[in-house]
Amino acid sequence: MLIVQKFGGSSVADAERIRRVAGIIAKTYQDGNDIVVVLSAQGDTTDDLIAKAELINKKASKREMDMLLSTGEQISVALCAMALEALGTPAVSLTGWQAGVQTTRQYGNSRIREINTERIYAELDRKRVVIVCGFQGSTTNGDITTLGRGGSDTSAVALAAKLKAGLCQIYTDVEGVYTADPRIVPAAHKLNEITYDEMLELASLGAKVLHNRSVEMARKYGVKLEVLSSFTKQPGTIVKERVKVEETKISGLAKDSNISRIALVGLRDEPGVAFRIFRMLAAKNINVDIILQSIGRENSKDISFTVAKSDYEIAVAALNEEKDEIGFQSLDVSTTLAKVSIVGAGMINSSGVASMMFEALYEAHVNIHMISTSEIKVSVLIDEVNADAAMNAIHKKFFRD
Ligand code: ASP
Ligand code: MG
Repeated sequence: MLIVQKFGGSSVADAERIRRVAGIIAKTYQDGNDIVVVLSAQGDTTDDLIAKAELINKKASKREMDMLLSTGEQISVALCAMALEALGTPAVSLTGWQAGVQTTRQYGNSRIREINTERIYAELDRKRVVIVCGFQGSTTNGDITTLGRGGSDTSAVALAAKLKAGLCQIYTDVEGVYTADPRIVPAAHKLNEITYDEMLELASLGAKVLHNRSVEMARKYGVKLEVLSSFTKQPGTIVKERVKVEETKISGLAKDSNISRIALVGLRDEPGVAFRIFRMLAAKNINVDIILQSIGRENSKDISFTVAKSDYEIAVAALNEEKDEIGFQSLDVSTTLAKVSIVGAGMINSSGVASMMFEALYEAHVNIHMISTSEIKVSVLIDEVNADAAMNAIHKKFFRD
């Protein structure tokens, strides 16, 4: 079977860990598999490189940043190939460019357009383990690009899709996908399986196990993913289209503290008001998450919505600038909130899931400011100080730990 194995930065952080990773790869090779390995930069290398650049030029061009950042992954693949050589396992390391990863020109955040697999197949035919730099590719002009922070996951999934790999393993420093972040909810446990849709919701809600785009791509091409630890020999979490229905109604919880709420009070109650507000925010590239509109009273209504914390200052400035055109009386901002969400494909066929969540919050004396739901998700906006207690209370309600 052709297997893609991706190892994150913590898994290749030092010599001992690289040797351990090489051991995992060599074992998979001895079992008779063709292997394409994708690596991240060692430990904090990417952050360190960014810091280095800032010492020289705080406004360095994105092209030169990509030239710099891509070196991190290059160190990892060379060292890993050397570790495999030492074990007597034939291996070759390749940059993104050598591996045929072609991307768009958006330096710092490019998308993979095509993978020219000739070289990879040639190396696999020679029975070599192919070790590819994650996170990078090149434009048709041969300029080096990177895929955005955390992009190695996406490199791995793209290669798995293109090569029609039987499995794409994402090795990291946790044992898989958990019902909640164990640092917040000590009772959280590892899931055996999760659907792409659930994983996508959890990833976009801030569960940092997988790069969002990698999950989207895995779903689109039906790449079977396994998230597992390179430190233990435990089986991980399988991410796929359908999973066995478990007794629990949800698969996980997530908390997002990077959220601010803006409330516009005293808007005119007439057509076009919401359009004007959100058109303007869209023009500023500000993503809006939860939106709530109050019932109108005496020709006036209120609209509140949430944006990322990093965006609220720009949003408020823009709204104030167009205060007359939009026509609101006052604007109120809250930056001490958190969004807590439950996610589960089982919600589609089961009623009462939201009410169980609200019951847990009520029992924990947590007040809800906003609610939003989708087919497989319920989110509440609450005070940040209550968020961890809320997470534990909700977890207990659904998983009876
Ligand atoms: N090294 C890059 C980063 O730190 C890519 C990755 O690790 O996935 O963002
Ligand atoms: Mg990562």
